[in-house]
Amino acid sequence: MTFQELKIIEPILKALTIQEYFVPTPIQAESIPVLLQGKDILGSAQTGTGKTAAFAIPILQNLHLEKQQNKSKRTIKALVLAPTRELALQIHDNFKEYGRNLDIKTTVIYGGVPQSKQVRVLNQGIDILVATPGRLLDLIQQRKLTLSNVSYLVLDEADRMLDMGFVKDVKKIVSMVKKERQTMFFSATMPNAIMSLAKEILDNPVRIMVSPEEETIDKIKQSIYYVEKKKKINLLVDLLKKKELKSVLVFSRTKHGANRIVKELDHLNIRAEAIHGNKSQGARQRALALFKAKRIRVLVATDIAARGIDVDELSHVINYDLPDVAETYIHRIGRTGRAGLGGSAISFCSQDEADLLKDIQKHIKMTIAVEKDSVYSIELTNTSFNVKNDRSSRNNKPTNHSKHQKSYSRKRTKNNKVKPKNFSKYDSRNQSKHS
Ligand code: AMP
Repeated sequence: MTFQELKIIEPILKALTIQEYFVPTPIQAESIPVLLQGKDILGSAQTGTGKTAAFAIPILQNLHLEKQQNKSKRTIKALVLAPTRELALQIHDNFKEYGRNLDIKTTVIYGGVPQSKQVRVLNQGIDILVATPGRLLDLIQQRKLTLSNVSYLVLDEADRMLDMGFVKDVKKIVSMVKKERQTMFFSATMPNAIMSLAKEILDNPVRIMVSPEEETIDKIKQSIYYVEKKKKINLLVDLLKKKELKSVLVFSRTKHGANRIVKELDHLNIRAEAIHGNKSQGARQRALALFKAKRIRVLVATDIAARGIDVDELSHVINYDLPDVAETYIHRIGRTGRAGLGGSAISFCSQDEADLLKDIQKHIKMTIAVEKDSVYSIELTNTSFNVKNDRSSRNNKPTNHSKHQKSYSRKRTKNNKVKPKNFSKYDSRNQSKHS
């Protein structure tokens, strides 16, 4: 598959060549044709999959073609909502790069800085606006901009927006854009709250899913402890006595749970920090910086807060609680084992999580080795399951790459951009609305 085959227009193709994008990533190959046809999309994909280009290229192309037919005044026709300033800036940069040969203007607005410069740029007339919800609503209330001409709407990292408490703002903003519009909704996880938001704002969307390369799983040493729920903390403390656990990311299902773990560790003089949706962006960044600098050994995170974490040499991931969604298990353990280093993922499973464990094992097509070397190990019932071609019998051999996948393996390019990760399993289905 090439970008030419996706019917991308010449000026954008040229821009992509400058970016050294030669092969579309799976999410691009899936989404671009659908979006060029004007359909809505519900995408499960994380940052790192190439999803920005997946929505930015068709928006730029459609706007360019519309402009050729109808040379109307510049008004905001496309709106991209992102949860954080960092992501908004990154998306804006990408739009500028892909649209460098087009007469299309993009700008970005976010809070925490004076608004005057942003308003000045808006007044000059723009076509595409990338925004965080708070500042956008602020400026709308001050009548500095209107969304009444927006016919392309993107919600990026919707789960994180929800986690950060933006859901009301998002709904308000959606009510201000055109009813006849194309909507693109991306979220790394699809919990019920996200699915119901998606149902409200999408019209008969095509569902696109990209999950991380299975190979990651084979590189990571996985194990599981069966343990009583209330003894999980003791088990964690015991494990942290082992020196080889150099840098440990602990996943907690809830924000309160994450705080509790940090508090318990603190009592024992084990320095840890928690990051989750109730912490400010600043507090999260500080905790992350301490962790990256190896000044703290343990970082406790909820799934969504852990999204931005890119730590080289993370030796261990500990699933203190098993995730509700089996796919999240892969996202979590993929945090270790980066850059071919290998890594370890240790999971704790109490009796009430036995069904979750079965789902995970079914999903990753392998049985996870049970560790019994702790005084806190117990026996559980109802954990066994059968799977054809159990991956655990493959002796940790890496899976095969296809030629296509190899060509965009994650590495730095000449202009120091990170290439997307390898993704092998992706699946798109045309789903009817609310299915
Ligand atoms: P994203 O998931 O949009 O944040 O993209 C992740 C990284 O992949 C960014 O550094 C992009 O510049 C890069 N990227 C996106 N699409 C391609 C592609 N088709 N070929 C090579 N690199 C890409």
